[in-house]
Amino acid sequence: MTQAYPIIDHQYDVVVVGAGGAGLRATLGMCAAGLSTACVTKVFPTRSHTVAAQGGISAALGNLGPDDWRFHMYDTVKGSDWLGDQDAIEYMCKNAIPAVVELEHFGVPFSRTPEGKIYQRPFGGHTRDYGKEMVARACAAADRTGHAILHTLYQQCLKHKAEFFVEYFTLDLIFDDEGKCCGVMAWNLEDGTIHRFQAHMVVLATGGHGRTYFSATSAHTCTGDGNGMILRAGLPLQDMEFVQFHPTGIYGAGCLMSEGVRGEGGYLTNSDGERFMEKYAPNAKDLASRDVVSRAITVEINEGRGCGPLKDYIHLNVQHLDAAVIHERLPGIAETAKTFAGVDVTKDPIPVVPTVHYNMGGIPTNYHAEVLSPTKDNPDAVAPGLMAIGEAACVSVHGANRLGTNSLVDLVVFGRAAAQRAAELIKPGSKSFQLSKNAGQKAIADLDALRHAKGDLSTSEIRLDLQRSMQKYCSVFRTEKTLQEGVKQVTRVAHSFEHVSLTDRSLIWNTDLVETLELRNLIGQGLATMVSAEARTESRGAHARDDYPERDDENWMKHTLSWVNHTHQTTVDYRPVHTYTLTNEVEYIKPQKRVY
Ligand SMILES: Cc1cc2nc3c(=O)[nH]c(=O)nc-3n(C[C@H](O)[C@H](O)[C@H](O)COP(=O)(O)OP(=O)(O)OC[C@H]3O[C@@H](n4cnc5c(N)ncnc54)[C@H](O)[C@@H]3O)c2cc1C
Repeated sequence: MTQAYPIIDHQYDVVVVGAGGAGLRATLGMCAAGLSTACVTKVFPTRSHTVAAQGGISAALGNLGPDDWRFHMYDTVKGSDWLGDQDAIEYMCKNAIPAVVELEHFGVPFSRTPEGKIYQRPFGGHTRDYGKEMVARACAAADRTGHAILHTLYQQCLKHKAEFFVEYFTLDLIFDDEGKCCGVMAWNLEDGTIHRFQAHMVVLATGGHGRTYFSATSAHTCTGDGNGMILRAGLPLQDMEFVQFHPTGIYGAGCLMSEGVRGEGGYLTNSDGERFMEKYAPNAKDLASRDVVSRAITVEINEGRGCGPLKDYIHLNVQHLDAAVIHERLPGIAETAKTFAGVDVTKDPIPVVPTVHYNMGGIPTNYHAEVLSPTKDNPDAVAPGLMAIGEAACVSVHGANRLGTNSLVDLVVFGRAAAQRAAELIKPGSKSFQLSKNAGQKAIADLDALRHAKGDLSTSEIRLDLQRSMQKYCSVFRTEKTLQEGVKQVTRVAHSFEHVSLTDRSLIWNTDLVETLELRNLIGQGLATMVSAEARTESRGAHARDDYPERDDENWMKHTLSWVNHTHQTTVDYRPVHTYTLTNEVEYIKPQKRVY
């Protein structure tokens, strides 16, 4: 029987779940607009994964040569392989410029040009004049850009007297009788108390779900909890088959070697010492888009030209760069390579392999950050009371493949947009909530059941099973055969979760229980990813099907929607890609063949 859990109630205008770059930018904007705002986070704000972002944040400032936000838009649309919504992409690329200037004014310590302007470096897929030549667009604070942004935003939030609930694990969303989202349930890890946050608007800024895979550059906390909550609420996720593999994760350790390394002049070689990217992308070479470089590396390894005793990695070279450049522009990279690969980058190449890095898919939203609950009549229908931003969301600005440095800009642009929209919708201090007495009881019953689970499988065993299945059957290249087997395997893993067993049954700092709740979320997303990938019979961006190698615009210019119910049954449906821009300042960019 479920024991009685006393509930501590809170009322706010807005509750933001997550304190990464997206959550903090939204919290700051909400507070500045006079809305009472709670920011609930499972880790201390400055430990969010945003802190690990290295290479930069894109904005067409043109500090190192001519640039234009329209070029940024073109690159983003092309990078997305035409699956991105061009209204949202226009909004992001145009607003990137004021958003980065605003970060500078907030105090982000960007690297500088000799004239004192924000330093910008080249990155994969960033060009000027609609693909003609490479451009330096990634604004960087050395190789610690995310660190600099996250700390600055946190300080700004404190200045605006934001209220933080730190190390509170959000369990689930709560809804009123009309189906409007009106808050969240959370568990305070420190003292074991249960909290019910009521609000007019809930903003999910819970980050990506890289940890569905075995090898990922993302933190162990990147378990897509908000996406799990969305699935349990009966809402769909979007474009989950598009998982970005970063070309250069350290072999074995998974730690990221930023694309900024290649931006500063680093290059890849195979076991013959050949600069093989020249074959695959004659113009952009090592700075082609991430999906292109990851596939090239995989082909080199599969064809026997990998390095090392098992011929299963590739070399990233920076030995030829001036040690002063490495020291000034890539200090963190040199340190990470030393620690995790034992390599002195000034002397030897770094062993790297494609590693899961980013989730293009997530919670479908419009460019105001409002969550969508698509219907047959209205594919853009809004779910009231609910917003999503950052890597958790799918706006969709990244489409089938995200360009490097476009996530950090997505966080701040749409974090800001969420605050602006909330300020339009909510009258500050208008607290009249119509919650039924039982609101949140389901979340508590689930927590109680998991806490007392007495099966014969540990959380870590089931998680490893999931991660290995995802890695094996839904990797850089996919086929019908691997994906069908993948669906079978992940469904089996989902059912095995019914046999989970916990060793610790307390509610105080029970990390076993935290990991079990996270695993529950990972499983739903793993299933959504597999079934979405199986259904899409074409190759587009990060989704590369060996059996369907071509992009098929006639049948597949559409977003995948996936639902997973409580018995692990899945449903897949589609909604149209927005083939229009936001304003008349730019024209819709028609699909073209994507070559670099
Ligand atoms: C190693 C690495 C390097 C990168 N480099 C770059 C780069 O140079 N440029 C770029 O543009 N992008 C980069 N990216 C991608 C980018 O950093 C991420 O996509 C982005 O930081 C995600 O930010 P976010 O705010 O959405 O989520 P996160 O920063 O992941 O934060 C998630 C937040 O949600 C909270 N949370 C999650 N679940 C719960 C729960 N159940 N209850 C309460 N709180 C919860 C967490 O506590 C955390 O505060 C990089 C990513 C990685 C992994």
